[in-house]
Amino acid sequence: MTSNLRSLTLAQLEALCAELGWPRYTAGQVFIWLWQKGVNDITAMTNLSKERRALLAERHSVRLPELLRTVNDEDGTTKFTFRLEDGNVIESVFIPDNDRATVCVSTQVGCKLGCAFCYTGQLGFKRNLAWNEISAQVLAVRQYLGSRKSQGESSKSGTAPDFAISPFPFPLITNVPFPLITNVVFMGMGEPFLNFDATIEAAKTINAENGLGIGARHITISTSGIPEGIKAFTQVPQQFRLALSLNASDDETRSKLMPVNKLHPLKEVMAAIRTYTDARGKRVTFEYVLVDGMNNRDKDVKQLGVLLKGIPCKLNLIPLNPYPGCELEAPTPESVEAFARKLWPLVPAVTVRRSKGASILAGCGQLAGLTE
Ligand code: SAH
Ligand code: SF4
Repeated sequence: MTSNLRSLTLAQLEALCAELGWPRYTAGQVFIWLWQKGVNDITAMTNLSKERRALLAERHSVRLPELLRTVNDEDGTTKFTFRLEDGNVIESVFIPDNDRATVCVSTQVGCKLGCAFCYTGQLGFKRNLAWNEISAQVLAVRQYLGSRKSQGESSKSGTAPDFAISPFPFPLITNVPFPLITNVVFMGMGEPFLNFDATIEAAKTINAENGLGIGARHITISTSGIPEGIKAFTQVPQQFRLALSLNASDDETRSKLMPVNKLHPLKEVMAAIRTYTDARGKRVTFEYVLVDGMNNRDKDVKQLGVLLKGIPCKLNLIPLNPYPGCELEAPTPESVEAFARKLWPLVPAVTVRRSKGASILAGCGQLAGLTE
């Protein structure tokens, strides 16, 4: 199989051009074709001479992950299932919401952290994604949306039956601008900070002007709390946003829900978070999956007030999304509301995440990369 040109960073493309005796700027041109314009065919790189295109095409492909299927929810959410070159399967989600359109990407095939409330975690870990396998998810979703838009189709429920006969990658549609994706969240399958370098390289490409061009402040990386990763993230120059999956207000409960807490308890994780907010002067989002009877007690309200005191933050309450075989339960909407109300005076901002895509197992924590 020919090697994939999309797996090369700009620096690696420059090295390739040097090796071929081509000017350095050619690498920048190729990068733009690959990530900004998103072509699926090397012969479409029209500012390269025919000979150069032919030589590249002989040696390289520009394959994107293969789209196996899409499933649409009535709320507009679409779940994408992709097959990677080695046959592994991952999922990404497109979530339109008023003036926002977010793509949620995976960073690993599975996850080794085994959180009790998370479907991905139940299925174990296969491997890290390469940086380009992460950023290609956004490109593939963008191409899919562009192609749907050019066909004048509105989203509809159910699996996309036309998919089997649609060629993928789709032909490049040059007359469709791409305002379709405004935000990217690293909240799909896997723990981004256990695949740090690939995650940051992907985020840079998604952000770069010669890449997908999505503003750094519109890119959020969510971690279960890997202190080393949070510290390294503090040094990343881009203004990417950080989210921490807090999910409990004391170590005992957190360790039950998130085994990683035994290795990195709250004290250590919160110290890393404070280092980040102090150094960067930026707000952090705490995600808090609500599990009835476990972390929505009155004592949690009090403990959260103490834990988050003085940290510029937003607390995002996410009622548990059920998945097949899940024995935990979400609180009732009334109890979620009551919990949020008690927190408001104690925490700078509290929001409740409406669960998008939950009915098609595309909500938070419901991605499992199953093809059946
Ligand atoms: N591994 C990273 C990112 C992926 S999980 C992390 O844990 O942060 C993304 C978010 O989904 C996390 O905040 C996680 O707490 C949440 N989540 C996981 N399972 C869930 C479920 N069943 N219902 C609701 N949210 C869930
Ligand atoms: Fe992994 Fe995040 Fe799921 Fe925990 S919540 S198992 S860290 S993907």
